[in-house]
Amino acid sequence: MALDALSVDSVVVRYGNIAAVDGASFALPRGRVLALLGPNGAGKTSLLRVCEGFRRPDGGRVATLGVDPFAERDRLMPRVGIMPQGGAVHPLAKAGELLRLFASYAADPVDVDYLADRLGLAHTLRRPCRRLSGGELQRLALALAVVGRPELVFLDEPTAGMDVEARHTTWAVIADLRAAGVSVLLTTHLLDEAERLADDVVIVDRGRVVAAGSPAHLTTTAGIDRLTVHAD
Ligand code: ATP
Repeated sequence: MALDALSVDSVVVRYGNIAAVDGASFALPRGRVLALLGPNGAGKTSLLRVCEGFRRPDGGRVATLGVDPFAERDRLMPRVGIMPQGGAVHPLAKAGELLRLFASYAADPVDVDYLADRLGLAHTLRRPCRRLSGGELQRLALALAVVGRPELVFLDEPTAGMDVEARHTTWAVIADLRAAGVSVLLTTHLLDEAERLADDVVIVDRGRVVAAGSPAHLTTTAGIDRLTVHAD
């Protein structure tokens, strides 16, 4: 069994002539939370797509739970949870229907009502998704990602645009994942969020890894400016 949940080696992602990811390397050891921290357009989502197996890298190699995610996406999907940016879900399906559907695919799902309650979504379960707020949709997307008890979870800007309460609720669920030994890769542009949640932080800018280490290391030794990126 591979030691790392995820290994990213010299990955390149190009859109035409532009290298959105330009030789990024990092590893996520099993059972840890890694935050990809960077400004808009840094290449975080592009990196995530490669790690999730939705896109073949234009250079370099990725191993997700020990396998090539693009070549073996079908086999990998039941072991991986994916929360896309912005909480993309079907607008007409009811929140509770989706949650139960996703739970039905899993051998040992989390109890749907417990999870909805934990994420402050109990009141939304009978509503079509188009009647959920942006923050509720994001939390539903998180619930869908984790209801099957995946080994590895990808969270793309899980709290972007959320109010303080929803953000804290989301952080608590990510802390639950960590406590349960789930490996988590999340993207954020909030240093506070990375500090609070992550064991390891990888800072990306213009497609390159510019610093990596523990949150404490990055804020003290590497002198990352705390004031430029912060949550509520
Ligand atoms: P954000 O924080 O704004 O979500 P990000 O760090 O996730 O940004 P990406 O979405 O990976 O960054 O985008 C990296 C760069 O690649 C950006 O300059 C973006 O405009 C560009 N890009 C992303 N997707 C495409 C695409 N399909 N075609 C062309 N350019 C793209």
